[in-house]
Amino acid sequence: MKKVIKAIKYFLKKDQMSEDSHLRIFLILPLIYTVSNTIISALFHQSNFLFNLSYTLIIVLLSYLAYKKILPKYILIFIFQTILFYALLVGYMISDTLLQGLIFIVVFPIVTIFLHSKRSYIVYWTLSYYLIFVLINIFHIGNNNIEYFTLFQIVFLHIFITFAISYYIYISKLKTKLLNIRQIKLQKNAQKLKMANDKMHELNLILEKLSSTDELTALNNRRNILSILQERIKLYKRKNISFLLVLIDIDHFKKVNDTYGHQEGDKVLKRVAQVQKELIREIDHIGRCGGEEFMIIIEEDKPSHAIDFLERLIRHVRTQVKFDTLITISAGASLMTPEDTQESLIHRADEALYEAKDSGRDRYVFSEK
Ligand code: GH3
Ligand code: MG
Ligand code: MG
Repeated sequence: MKKVIKAIKYFLKKDQMSEDSHLRIFLILPLIYTVSNTIISALFHQSNFLFNLSYTLIIVLLSYLAYKKILPKYILIFIFQTILFYALLVGYMISDTLLQGLIFIVVFPIVTIFLHSKRSYIVYWTLSYYLIFVLINIFHIGNNNIEYFTLFQIVFLHIFITFAISYYIYISKLKTKLLNIRQIKLQKNAQKLKMANDKMHELNLILEKLSSTDELTALNNRRNILSILQERIKLYKRKNISFLLVLIDIDHFKKVNDTYGHQEGDKVLKRVAQVQKELIREIDHIGRCGGEEFMIIIEEDKPSHAIDFLERLIRHVRTQVKFDTLITISAGASLMTPEDTQESLIHRADEALYEAKDSGRDRYVFSEK
């Protein structure tokens, strides 16, 4: 019983947007009509009871197929249209009042218009219906015979109405089509705009990267490493996350240039940069401050760890930068303290670096406060 109620609800559902809503309505209407006809003809023992019953069964079967979506929609429409076509013609032929005949004549074109979305189908069904209707009248088949003049009046009036309605449908469909085309164009434009925007964003990122990167070593340039230092100082003041500042200078680099040439000097610079970068973590920063000088900023708060790092740094460059002559660096380091400003921090590291150079190079000096 629940299933039957569900099926009835399906056929009565009023969703105009659904593809098969027309089909559902035109199956439920004949269903109600034929079922009540069958009951009446059974109650009054009418002779057309069997005809009504078979017609009802066919409509029930069609409704079931539509409900279960067993047959494709267009086949169902075709079957339904054909049954309706012959039922109405037979009804017209056997009915004995003109009024009954006229009702049949009116029902068919209206149903046709609502059932079909294609104009050619509407034209085809309507014309064939009227052709047979006219032939029946001309050859005096059945009970309903109308005068020729009335017959043609009815036919032409209905053909006119059918074409007017189908033309209206055509125009409104055309409008939706135009609207859709406009919408697609708008969507395409929006897509283009988005692509241009993405490209611009990408270019901006490249530009940002270029303006913050040193061309030779691909490390942060002076401007960028100094702005990172500024951020780290702010972070230290806000969250007390301490860090170590290291200034590095390659030893006797002028000699390298003088002996092997500027190009070889460049290669050494690149390699020293690479080797230092390998040693620091993702969260740490390194930049080239100019010439053969570098700056490293690493998150650190314990002097012992800082010394550990500095020792490794000096050793790493000495052993990892392979060149015709030994390449070494000197480093000066200072740990951020609450009293420090950017200037004082750099100044302390710078002084330590001088001290390292003065005391023989290839070493670090850690400025402890
Ligand atoms: P030290 O630091 O040990 O006191 O001696 P140094 O010879 O390294 O000192 P100085 O600062 O006088 O020399 C730095 C040299 O670095 C001078 C310059 O020719 C060279 N230099 C600066 N920038 C570049 C560069 O981009 N490429 C090359 N090949 N050399 C550079
Ligand atoms: Mg120098
Ligand atoms: Mg130097």
